[in-house]
Amino acid sequence: MHYRVSFYQGEMDSQPGGYVPSDMAVSLTPFRACMKGTEQAPGRCIALGEDKLCTIYENRPSVCREFPALLEDGSQNPECIRLQAMYGISRK
Ligand code: SF4
Repeated sequence: MHYRVSFYQGEMDSQPGGYVPSDMAVSLTPFRACMKGTEQAPGRCIALGEDKLCTIYENRPSVCREFPALLEDGSQNPECIRLQAMYGISRK
């Protein structure tokens, strides 16, 4: 499974009130955009740094804010573990 990191174009900093760096995103439709690198599989988000951390964390799109990296019991979301293994980016 592949995740395209897509979000409402109004979140891009080229729009009033937007905050996601528009040079790191591409338009998909008149209303939707996605992070560069995730347009198609296999894809790695352009904002993912070499240290495996988000380089635009404070300005990441809503879809990233809503994805639960941790479960209610504090354990890592198994989907994160699966994706990290798939892309060889697991943190240790
Ligand atoms: S959290 Fe950051 S690095 Fe991860 S997908 Fe979102 S923008 Fe990209």
